[in-house]
Amino acid sequence: MSKTSSTTKAPTFDLFSTKRAYSTDEHEMYRTSLQKFIEKEVKPYLHEWEENGYTPRELYKKMGEHGFLSPQVDPAYGGLGLDFGFNLVLAEETSRIGGGIGGASLHSSITVPYIEKYATEEQKLKYLNGCVTGDIFTAVAMTEPGTGSDLASVNTTAVRDGDYYVINGQKTFITNGLNADLIFVVVKTDPKAVPARKGISIIMVEKDTPGFICGRKLKKMGGHSQDTVELIFEDARVPVSNLLGKEGEGFYILMDKLQQERIICASSAFALGQEMLESTIRYVKERHAFGVPISSFQNTQFEIAEMATELSIAGAFIDDLAVRHMNGEDITTQASMAKWWMTDKARKMSARCLQLHGGYGYMEEYDIARQYRDVAVMPIYAGTNEIMKNIIAKNLGL
Ligand SMILES: Cc1cc2nc3c(=O)[nH]c(=O)nc-3n(C[C@H](O)[C@H](O)[C@H](O)COP(=O)(O)OP(=O)(O)OC[C@H]3O[C@@H](n4cnc5c(N)ncnc54)[C@H](O)[C@@H]3O)c2cc1C
Repeated sequence: MSKTSSTTKAPTFDLFSTKRAYSTDEHEMYRTSLQKFIEKEVKPYLHEWEENGYTPRELYKKMGEHGFLSPQVDPAYGGLGLDFGFNLVLAEETSRIGGGIGGASLHSSITVPYIEKYATEEQKLKYLNGCVTGDIFTAVAMTEPGTGSDLASVNTTAVRDGDYYVINGQKTFITNGLNADLIFVVVKTDPKAVPARKGISIIMVEKDTPGFICGRKLKKMGGHSQDTVELIFEDARVPVSNLLGKEGEGFYILMDKLQQERIICASSAFALGQEMLESTIRYVKERHAFGVPISSFQNTQFEIAEMATELSIAGAFIDDLAVRHMNGEDITTQASMAKWWMTDKARKMSARCLQLHGGYGYMEEYDIARQYRDVAVMPIYAGTNEIMKNIIAKNLGL
């Protein structure tokens, strides 16, 4: 597969097609092989992993071996050098199946790009190849028990002691936290900085670091097979050479990748919406009540018609943004719009689709029960939907 750096095709959209405006035959071949991988390596075990509250670490190693981790990484560091469209395929297909495998998309499209853009040559040589092969799996630790949306208020500190930083503090809700070998920890290197965001840095912490403790695996309402944990730092000593970028640059590094993160989020929610609606249409055609398929009731038809319309509108918008992002445009405001709107729609769709399944929708044997729980986090993470609206309003001059 060759690198396709940009695409200028007009967006085309078919409700349940996986083919998107950004995708070429190469993207679709990649998608097909990822779907086959998921069919064989994930689907048969997903229920068990949900029960265990954990997706085995080996899955990510296998994904790496098949080229399904960080496909964008430069071949000079062992990657495939593919364009952002391949990250979108990864986000969409992992979202369609759901469960902990979504952590692979976070690793590939959110954390590894920090290394690609901001790491020193030495750090790139040390970590990037492992991030592609699956020998190194990553997480990002921003949120703390006392602060989430207000990132500049983090309390975890890193104090310089010779060639080391000494880290103290606590993080929570960290996706991939148990499986991660390398964690991008957001710390205060200058607690007195004004404004506070200028005192924030990112330090890459390896899992065996003395004083770094992986805490409780958190019990959640959804995403049961995703390892979401607390992380504790008690005088954790990390070499100064593990600083990412410069001291005080952490906040800006995180902000720099947000446009991409939000398009990934919107695309994931869109793919999940496709999945929910398609299986609901199948269900309402099969299920009978009062001697007729429930699809023949006007309410069912109107519900489906409304959701199909909303999904079509979202698909066209997200497709357009994906192409513009790949063409290097600044679409920060629109990416925030897509994130809040699509994740909100997907959450509402899950309730509507569940209702159309009747009592079976409440049963674990139907995917919609799990999807209804899992989708609830989408309006919360990657910047809450309220924060998205703050950004949009600010960029409108309010
Ligand atoms: C399953 C899961 C996985 C996660 N994974 C990670 C991860 O890997 N790494 C990580 O660092 N974090 C992760 N998070 C944390 C997530 O990013 C935060 O929960 C999120 O940023 C919100 O922060 P908070 O929970 O502290 O809520 P708060 O910031 O306390 O917000 C509470 C409510 O107040 C609203 N609010 C806050 N500020 C404003 C404002 N200025 N204007 C209007 N409304 C506002 C919010 O929108 C929200 O509705 C995860 C969370 C979950 C649930």
